[in-house]
Amino acid sequence: MLERLGPYCSYRERKGDLHVEHVVPRHHRQDLAEEWTNFLLGCVNCNSIKRKRNQSRAGYTWPDDEVMWRPFEYLPHGRVKVAGNLSDSNRIKAERLFDLVGLGRQPASNPTASDLRYLSRLEAWDNAVVARAKLVEGRIDVDTVVELAKATGFWSVWMTVFVGNSAVCDRLRDAFPGTR
Ligand SMILES: [Zn+2]
Repeated sequence: MLERLGPYCSYRERKGDLHVEHVVPRHHRQDLAEEWTNFLLGCVNCNSIKRKRNQSRAGYTWPDDEVMWRPFEYLPHGRVKVAGNLSDSNRIKAERLFDLVGLGRQPASNPTASDLRYLSRLEAWDNAVVARAKLVEGRIDVDTVVELAKATGFWSVWMTVFVGNSAVCDRLRDAFPGTR
């Protein structure tokens, strides 16, 4: 699973703290409990929110069918929302996954330790913006940007911050398994 997907949550793209995640919960489909194609990697946040709420694969966008930065839009300050340019059917599927794993959950005002999922995406955004500025100034090279991205996680955030820089985006696709 780690070779196929990298050490990142398939949904939230956080690094570490991962469990094997059953796309279709065992509760509904015991016959898929050991089915390879039913596995993704999930962090504790996604697992605890998703639980057994979906009955099947149908009707949702899944991260092994679609790179996540197409159905979702990654915004400054670690926010994420369903993209505005989707067809009606794709928007509905994206909204259902967004709700299923609580992708949009974030603290109302002052983040606390329990808001780590939000804080870590915010940190990734900030790291990527700083790296972009340093790259432009020639203070770091593309290799260093890619190493920072791998250490931080949140591939979609890095792809969003470096949009328009095809050299970096190409290297990010190579560095994160399954994204290309
Ligand atoms: Zn997660």
